[in-house]
Amino acid sequence: MPNLFKVAKFGGTSMADAAAMRRCAAIVLSDPDKKIIVVSATAGTTNLLTELVSDSSTDQRVAIAEQIRDKHLAICNDLEEPENIQEKVEELLDELKAIASRKQIMTGMLRDEIFSFGERLSSTIFAQVLREESGSEVIWLDARNVIVTDSNFGSAEPLPEQIAFKSDEFVQPKLNSGRIVTQGFIGSNRQGVTTTLGRGGSDYSAALFAEAADADVLEIWTDVTAIYTTDPRIVPGAKPITEISFDEAAELSVFGAKVLHPATMIPAIRKNIKVYVGSSMKPDEPGTWIVKETKNNPVIRAISLRRNQTLLTVRSLEMLHQYGFLAKLFSVLSEHKISVDLVTTSEVSVALTLDSDINTPGKQKLTDEVLEKLRSFCEVEIDRNLSLIALIGNNLDATAGLSGPVFGALEDVNVRLICHGASSHNLCFLVSENESEEVVNILHNKFIKE
Ligand code: ASP
Ligand code: MG
Repeated sequence: MPNLFKVAKFGGTSMADAAAMRRCAAIVLSDPDKKIIVVSATAGTTNLLTELVSDSSTDQRVAIAEQIRDKHLAICNDLEEPENIQEKVEELLDELKAIASRKQIMTGMLRDEIFSFGERLSSTIFAQVLREESGSEVIWLDARNVIVTDSNFGSAEPLPEQIAFKSDEFVQPKLNSGRIVTQGFIGSNRQGVTTTLGRGGSDYSAALFAEAADADVLEIWTDVTAIYTTDPRIVPGAKPITEISFDEAAELSVFGAKVLHPATMIPAIRKNIKVYVGSSMKPDEPGTWIVKETKNNPVIRAISLRRNQTLLTVRSLEMLHQYGFLAKLFSVLSEHKISVDLVTTSEVSVALTLDSDINTPGKQKLTDEVLEKLRSFCEVEIDRNLSLIALIGNNLDATAGLSGPVFGALEDVNVRLICHGASSHNLCFLVSENESEEVVNILHNKFIKE
């Protein structure tokens, strides 16, 4: 069998310190097929940079830059031959400090430039760790030469055709010379200005590298051993999933489990690249394979819970036998970049859910301005403190008699909005935040626990 070609991605907790980096290096070196390594910033660094970009006083910004300096120099201190990268690391740290101490308006462009230091630092250090552990050639690659995006700073959209082109130019010729270490999360627009893919975007970057370079396998090494049937903190009996399909995993990453960035599956599906999720702390424990077709296809494979949901109900008598109402409604929401998750409609009303978690990339709050615009043509009602429960599996739209047992088990629960039928891989509904964990327990016990 010809050799496989693998891309491996390591998240922030896997990059926490020199010891964690050495564990990752051991994972890489256990397998000659792992040729492109994509890394996140060291643990907590992007959070620090987020503080830095939101602090208005230069003193505070400089203090954070100093904190980042100490943290990275401490990791360098634990290396065998830090002198190989010392100059480069110091240069990056000096540059970050210089930007932090300048009095200037924080634009989206500048924020992304600042964010990029996290991954540029971690990848420089990790490349050295890998050199030390392997004693062989390791190539540091600037991801901004490859991951071409639009100019939507903060959550830029990758341009796959351009990326394929750049990968042929910058990645392909180097593949035979050694392993490549590069950054997740960052890219650049067509003019070469630094952009980022949004928080947690390194998984997506790794999938884009895998797609462009024609990899067979994408490995995501993180801090959980596998994708679970539900969050083990909510249901202690939750079980690791050995194998799950692309479609199910895509639903799961959108609806709850923060294991993968929601866009990760898009390139994997486009190119049929198998994805493996495992823990860099416990690499020998079985992880989860995400594949096109799974051997078994249970109706309910997993249950996810997403908190901080807002239910927006709009009503308008105008809607009766009219056209254009939905278009008008959605144009207001899209104008304000509000992303809608679930929608149900009746003749005169529309109910939709929004993610009110402001930490979720790309999500925006319902501002007074938006509400005012909506109220100019319809009645608006808002319910907060809701959770979205999604049952993820197969043939959920076609399974006769499924909703009876599901909602029968929830007799005493006030179920708000149900979406069933739009996808064969999920059935979701809203419940109040304070009942949500109990609901997940009831359903997991009834449908998943053997
Ligand atoms: N470092 C970035 C973040 O913390 C990207 C990532 O880790 O995926 O959001
Ligand atoms: Mg992550």
